[in-house]
This record gives sequence, structure tokens and C-alpha cells, in this order.
Amino acid sequence: MINNEVSIVKSWWDLASSALERRPSALMLIGPSGIGKTGFGREIAAALLCESPLIEDRSACGVCRSCQWMLTGQHPDFRWVQPDALAAELGNPEESAEDLGSAESTEVGAGEKKKSQEIRIEQIRSLSGFANVGAHRGGLRVVLVNPANRMNYAAANALLKTLEEPTENLMFILVADGLRGIPPTILSRCRRLRLPISDDEVARIQLENNESAQWLLEVITAESVDPLRWAERAGKSSPADVLDFLQRWMNDVARVRLGVAPRHFIDHHQALQAHAQRLRSPQRFSSGMADLQRQRALAEHPLNPRLFFETIFERLQRAYE
Ligand SMILES: [Zn+2]
Repeated sequence: MINNEVSIVKSWWDLASSALERRPSALMLIGPSGIGKTGFGREIAAALLCESPLIEDRSACGVCRSCQWMLTGQHPDFRWVQPDALAAELGNPEESAEDLGSAESTEVGAGEKKKSQEIRIEQIRSLSGFANVGAHRGGLRVVLVNPANRMNYAAANALLKTLEEPTENLMFILVADGLRGIPPTILSRCRRLRLPISDDEVARIQLENNESAQWLLEVITAESVDPLRWAERAGKSSPADVLDFLQRWMNDVARVRLGVAPRHFIDHHQALQAHAQRLRSPQRFSSGMADLQRQRALAEHPLNPRLFFETIFERLQRAYE
């Protein structure tokens, strides 16, 4: 494995390696969001490109030159295609090193040009150069497309063309939370791999991957809700992560109140219990939960994150009144 920090469910690897035996031209990884599909996609790419895969399971050795390139995001035979907005968020080196020739996303001087939320046709077209030039090491080239359901119509069509005329030694790994938004014509060209995972495991990994979980846990277990102060503390946290945390927390408080074991914060039973006792009206609490659920649509890209944080913390506060 190239990255041991990525939580990967062990059985996934066995599934992937048997799917890879037939060397499909496209593999699609499907599973709930936030469980590490992209990291797993990169592991598969690393294994395919590795110069000396491990004998026992054909996974990437993690030490050869190819694996080192994968780790630093500089592998000449690997491309990572994702929406510009996502690449900017993750600081993805493959994408930023690439000149995709798009006025849409590269006019930095023009000020706050909005980065695209979609995978654009230029990104898929630029792959043809990559596909047609011989691989640097004379072997395979791998393209990771993530999330596959964010390809716009033109991009999906361009990809379909590539898949219809597969180039030798070019492999696509597509990553998606679900099949929605992916044209059936593309699906039919992919070997699909649903990553098996239990609900509990999903909950555990998603929480582990939530970067705001630590500070939120500190404040929520120690203080009473303070929307303005908490919003300031949230700063540049991901609004989606913060909302997700609050929803899980409230869900567990509601469970504990009903005498059911918590599902997400199993190590914080005492704090949950205190919260469950503090809430005055279960009706108000559950309508607070519904309120937060309604904020989900805004959480991806709120116009004003600070205001968004104040709103959701205020909803949380009111739920206890
Ligand atoms: Zn290697």
C-alpha cells in the first residue's frame, strides 16, 4: 500500500484484485460518500503501476520509484480528473500541474473566478494526448475520474468515446457514491465494484475522516451551545463536515434519550446522556434535527460560511430549549 493512513476495508482489496485479473478498461468503484473510495482508487492505480507489487496480494510495494511518484502526486503515467473546485480544495498536485487550457478556471488574475463544480469536457479531451503518447515506463497508464457523476454531459460523451475505442494499456478508475447521474452507456462499459461495508463501519470511517470532529467534540461535550463564538471557532472548517457532525451528534442524543445505544459517539456515552437530560422537549429536538437536515442542500457551498455556521449552531441551541 502507498498510503497506510487511508482506512481501507481489507476485503475491498481482494474484490479489486479479482476484478483486475481480467484487466477491464474501466473499473467503477461505488460506495457511500466519505469512506475512502478515492484513496482506494489511488491504491489500485499504484498497484497497477508498481514496479514490484507484493507477491502475496499484488498490492503496491510502497517503496519503488513508481510508488514514490504516486505518493508525491507526480506519476507521469497517472492522471486524476476531478472538478476544479474539488482539486483546489484538496490541493491536488496532479491537477494543478496540468495546463488544461481552460479560460473558465485559470483566469486567476481576473479575481475571484469561480472554480467549476463539474468535470469539464476539456479535462477529458486533454487525456487523449496522455493516452496516445507511449507510457513513460512502457507499461500501463491509469486515469482516476472522481466523482464520476460530476461529469457534465459533454464530458461524459467524450469519455464514452474513449471507452468505446479503448486504447491499449489505458485504464480508467471511476469513483462514484451511486449510479445517479452516470449515463447507462458509460455504466455498460465499466466493470462495477460495489465496495461492501457495514453501516457501523461507514459511520466510523466517516467520522474519522471528518476534519472538524475533534474541535467540535471538545466544545460540544464541554460547553453549552454558543452560536456566535462557535461560528468564529469554525473559521474555515468545511460546512458540510460541521453539519454532518451535528446531525450525527443529535442523532445519538436522541437515541440515548430513547434508551438506545449511540451509534456514532460510542465513547462519549456520558456526554450524550447529559445532553439527553438537558433537552426539554423531544418534539422540539426532533424538529431541530429536521431543520438541520434542510440545511444540507446549502452545506456544500454556502454563500456566506460564517452565517451558515451561525444558523446551524443556533438551530442546535434552539433544539434544546
Ligand atoms: Zn511499488
